[in-house]
Amino acid sequence: MAQAKYSTHLGMVDILPDEARKWQYLENLIREEAEKFNLEEIRTPIMEQTELIVRGLGQLTDIVSKEIFSFSRGDDNYVLRPELTAPVVRAYVQHHMAQRGGSQKLFYIGPMFRAERPQKGRQRQFHQFGAEVLGSDDPVADVEIIAFMVQIYKKIGITNTTLKLNSIGDPDSRNAYKKALKDHLKPNFDKLSEVSQKRYENNPLRILDSKEEEDQPFIKNAPVITDFLNEDSLRHYKQVKEYLADLDIPFEEDPYLVRGMDYYTQTAFELISPDLGSQDALAGGGRYDLLVEEIGGQPTPAVGFAAGMERLLIACEELGIQLGDEKKVDVYIVTLGDEARKWGVSKLPQLRDAGLSATMDYKGRSMKAQMKDANRENAKYALIVGGNELEEGKFTLRNMKESEEKSLSFEEILEKLSN
Ligand code: AMP
Repeated sequence: MAQAKYSTHLGMVDILPDEARKWQYLENLIREEAEKFNLEEIRTPIMEQTELIVRGLGQLTDIVSKEIFSFSRGDDNYVLRPELTAPVVRAYVQHHMAQRGGSQKLFYIGPMFRAERPQKGRQRQFHQFGAEVLGSDDPVADVEIIAFMVQIYKKIGITNTTLKLNSIGDPDSRNAYKKALKDHLKPNFDKLSEVSQKRYENNPLRILDSKEEEDQPFIKNAPVITDFLNEDSLRHYKQVKEYLADLDIPFEEDPYLVRGMDYYTQTAFELISPDLGSQDALAGGGRYDLLVEEIGGQPTPAVGFAAGMERLLIACEELGIQLGDEKKVDVYIVTLGDEARKWGVSKLPQLRDAGLSATMDYKGRSMKAQMKDANRENAKYALIVGGNELEEGKFTLRNMKESEEKSLSFEEILEKLSN
């Protein structure tokens, strides 16, 4: 086939109809579960102010490694959102959502953008679903968030996942740990990778996330944050673990699972899958009690997670999980002659009003070609109409799978098919 004149950008992917059916199925499932968890949907713009996403120097190193797409227009700096926690918090503050009362329990599904080097499971435009609870510091909120995340994968049939869990404590605990970590790394600073050297001052915790070969020996022997948690943090962590055990949600503690930003607190978690290869994270999240204030709101504890839709689809593929039904249509009207075609066009709305999906030929093809097309469209029934049928008011209804035909009036057909 000739090469198309235009194509998508690198790392940006079209979701064609056969694939889109799977997305619809997943999105419906996520929405249904969200409803059960009493989560409300929030939709924010694709673009945000750069200043919201890049808030400080610590951020800058992290964001630069996430490589945001940004541009300016007039005096405004735009970024394509790389994630949704900050935008959701922005909306929470901007619209005084706390005034709605109670905790705000939110979920979202939508596209995110990161100018990363594309590979399997890593795109430049990808999609996340996620949830955020704002206004509660109770471990119940952490566990409900985790339970919602885990439930989605369970419902879909992805069961071979591992939930990794850690606590990074409150700022006091973390500052003590940061110091210990830096002391540990200091003698070998020169041997660390360039990225880790850059993170040493502003974001030392992120060194623990490093995949660079040369960092591994120093990460392996690093002190663990759990040894630095103060009493409050330990209590919070213990309660999260107890609730998870009560809910039969298995987890593995990973003391090196950390989040770099200063606004993260307490619970950190990640859901990984052996079916994903090197990009093995299905989802990740945690508590961020300091972010709302950082974004200009009143101090508000919060917890949330984000999950990759594409990685979810890859895992389904690997496990042979079929998502949703094949393409199909209830009724395909097959016509012979102009009068019959006119009749067909006029009957489509009635079929649809009766709750059926209905279509017909758009190309003025022969009856034989129309029957073939009805097959291709995976039609359950062909409603065949020609001059005789119109005269008699009886039409041929062919069950395509059983190859059975009945002669019925249009009312009888409506009655039969809408049951
Ligand atoms: P993060 O916001 O980095 O914590 O990512 C949360 C989840 O989003 C990850 O666990 C992945 O499943 C997914 N994800 C992150 N970045 C990408 C990407 N570039 N392409 C596809 N999925 C991604």
